[in-house]
Amino acid sequence: MIVRLTDAWAEILRRRAASSTGAYPLPVQALLGEMAAAGVLMQSNIKFRGSLILQVFGDGPVKLAVAEIQSDLSLRATATLKGEVPADAGLSAMLNVHGQGRCAITLDPKDRLPGQQPYQGVVPLTDECDQKMNKLSDALQHYMRQSEQLETTLVLAADDKVAAGLLIQRLPVKGMANLAGQQPGEAELYEAEMYEHYNRIATLAASLKREELLTLDVETILRRLFWEEKLQRFEPFVGETAPRFACTCNRDRVARMIQGLGEVEAKEILAERGAIMVDCEFCGAHYRFDAIDAAQLFTTPGAKPPSSPSIQ
Ligand SMILES: [Zn+2]
Repeated sequence: MIVRLTDAWAEILRRRAASSTGAYPLPVQALLGEMAAAGVLMQSNIKFRGSLILQVFGDGPVKLAVAEIQSDLSLRATATLKGEVPADAGLSAMLNVHGQGRCAITLDPKDRLPGQQPYQGVVPLTDECDQKMNKLSDALQHYMRQSEQLETTLVLAADDKVAAGLLIQRLPVKGMANLAGQQPGEAELYEAEMYEHYNRIATLAASLKREELLTLDVETILRRLFWEEKLQRFEPFVGETAPRFACTCNRDRVARMIQGLGEVEAKEILAERGAIMVDCEFCGAHYRFDAIDAAQLFTTPGAKPPSSPSIQ
């Protein structure tokens, strides 16, 4: 599976650049783009009915990076920074300075039952030998191998224009049970042969360079990597079905968040600033609740929050 985000990725970067925080430093663009591409590949791969949320909790200047992909492949992404990100910062310098960096993969079902928790898996950004990982793909590969019990190879790359990724996964062999009843050793032989095929394909895929993934079109990449293989290509997702930027924020959600703060704190903010203002970190939408809006949130129990439009 191969993904190349261009318009969706440009939209995410454009909105961030237009926000009060300003554009992401280049290394953060690379990280977040890789997360967006990986998230799309993982969501398409498991076809989960709900959101797939990829999060990195860092202990360096990148505190948090999030990429969220819905089942229709609409996506959004954001990162929270604190302090300077060096222009040449790698993964460790950004978010694994003290070896405390973590990557979490959350599957949040669309129709979650009351009390049901989303499923979450967490992987460290250090390997078995306690060495810090240099690539996000290493952590995600590790997660996918563990959670799906399937051999996985992941190649990711992103810059200020493209976020791209290539995923190779060994599918479970169909009909293994039938083979098992036949000639002694036949199933094992077949298994070994399939493993050899996977290994060859995975090695070819892993040879793909960052620069190639970013600059070449899909056709050329496939031809370069697998020119000796018999290829069967599936229809690419385009237009409405392609990965695209979309934010799931809305005024009702912000209202519920303010209700969650409690009346005392809400009143404190109002007294101090005259209004409660919330900016969506994903899309930059502004939500403003003045004293009257806020009073309604706390005085009418169960009432729907006021639905004045937000300013995009
Ligand atoms: Zn938003």
